Amino acid sequence: MNYLQYFAHYPSSLQAQIKTLLEGDKLAAYFRGKYPHGHQCQSTQALYDYCHDYKNKYLKNVPRLHKVSYAKGRDLMTGTLGHHSQTRKQHGRKVKTRYEIALSQQLKYAPEAVLRALVVHELAHFKELDHNKAFYQLCCHMEPDYHQLELDLRLFIVLDRLGANFYHSGAQQ
Ligand SMILES: [Zn+2]
Repeated sequence: MNYLQYFAHYPSSLQAQIKTLLEGDKLAAYFRGKYPHGHQCQSTQALYDYCHDYKNKYLKNVPRLHKVSYAKGRDLMTGTLGHHSQTRKQHGRKVKTRYEIALSQQLKYAPEAVLRALVVHELAHFKELDHNKAFYQLCCHMEPDYHQLELDLRLFIVLDRLGANFYHSGAQQ
């Protein structure tokens, strides 16, 4: 599996570094050094509270999140790691909008910073549908280090795919 293709849009100098990480089996060491511990949001409730706090802090105009969950079948390699939805339902004469976020279950055992990158990404989509300039500006407003964290998110998914995700054991610390 050539994982490098998932970093094709990064500058070539950065791609060279990524190549070294992937080829040299240094990915786990990179994560151990940078993020020794995993996040504590394994339960749906904890994940909900985590997302809710971010939304309330930065996107006050977006209504209350209806549901936040970990979902199977969401994967960087097949397209998307997370999903946001606004579904409109007719309730008598009222139209209700449900705001939901589903994150890849690969993120259940992961560093907090990596989870944060995906949560910020999905929340930003409630304001900006496309991956345009305004979208990334909003992401960077919510998380100034967003671009680095998005790279780490991609690297983490490769780590998980390689069967080297060591955050499973550290989650209960
Ligand atoms: Zn997106």
